[in-house]
Amino acid sequence: MPTCHHCDATHTAEELTRHERPGVVLVHCPDCDCLLGRYRRHGDAPETDRLREA
Ligand SMILES: [Zn+2]
Repeated sequence: MPTCHHCDATHTAEELTRHERPGVVLVHCPDCDCLLGRYRRHGDAPETDRLREA
């Protein structure tokens, strides 16, 4: 479970505040509203944020 680095609260993924953006979901702490992370949505065209050369 993600732990907020700001207020130290631990929440399940379902409890987090989600803000959907094109191609990405931003998740915020429901207590202090700080950004906990961002996740690429499935089913959308993936953004290249790292090179995966074999
Ligand atoms: Zn927090």
